[in-house]
Amino acid sequence: MYKRQALDNHQFVLYYQPKVNIKTGMVKGVEALIRWQHPERGLLNPIEFLPIIENNPMMIEMGEWVIDSALTQISQWQAMGLNSPLNTSVNIAAVQLQQPDFTQRLTKLLAAHPDVEPHYLELEVLETSALEDVQHISTIMNACMALGVKFALDDFGTGYSSLTYLRRLPASLIKIDQTFVRDMLIDVDDLAIVEGVIALAKSFKRDVIAEGVETVEHGAALLQIGCELAQGYGIAKPMPASDIPRWISEWKPDISWQS
Ligand code: C2E
Ligand code: MG
Ligand code: MG
Repeated sequence: MYKRQALDNHQFVLYYQPKVNIKTGMVKGVEALIRWQHPERGLLNPIEFLPIIENNPMMIEMGEWVIDSALTQISQWQAMGLNSPLNTSVNIAAVQLQQPDFTQRLTKLLAAHPDVEPHYLELEVLETSALEDVQHISTIMNACMALGVKFALDDFGTGYSSLTYLRRLPASLIKIDQTFVRDMLIDVDDLAIVEGVIALAKSFKRDVIAEGVETVEHGAALLQIGCELAQGYGIAKPMPASDIPRWISEWKPDISWQS
């Protein structure tokens, strides 16, 4: 199968997108996003290949490659002496998280990178996928948290967003889905959803980050309703790992965000 060759031939690469506090200017971390450096078609985004491998056993191998590469990257940034090591998140497919031996596999991956403290690794779980079997998922999440890794609920608001589930899934961070954020300036319903998720996160004592922050105006609106953490093209696009140190040293939040 030709996707297999992408893994064997080392054609997958991770890009990294900064996650920041737009009020304080602190860089909170980065999210690892997979790309396929295709020999003929160039750099491909996940939408162009993930759906095809999603239900294939290779998805699990790819997922482990992602975690392993992110851990290698964290240790490289650490060795370069980035002033504060970066919290790095990776996206985890439901099939991967629901593997009976996921915790053992994660333990092995962490053991292969003894210089990386596990709390620098965060796993992003799709809210929709997590909802399939909450009992099982929360057991796995708790076991992984015992290893030190953290969890985020990705694309929050697109699934059922049940309060019971939120209560039972021990994710420390909620990521507001970018579709709501994108339209919050022009659509009152989307704004209401964003406000609702922020309030929910506060009630449950979880951190909350807005995805898809494309403009300065989005940032300003988010600050007004109490969300300081943000990620999006308006801050930085996903970039090769080698660009991250310079980006961190140069980035400053927009002046209007600090007033
Ligand atoms: P996600 O985890 O919700 O990641 C955010 C996506 O939104 C990324 O797309 C990112 O490039 C894009 N994005 C960030 N800021 C903005 C913005 O301001 N505007 C717009 N329009 N888009 C923005 P990307 O990299 O194409 O990834 C798409 C999805 O593919 C991810 O959504 C995630 O669910 C999945 N994915 C990416 N990498 C991996 C991976 O390593 N493993 C797994 N299982 N899934 C992955
Ligand atoms: Mg994500
Ligand atoms: Mg998302």
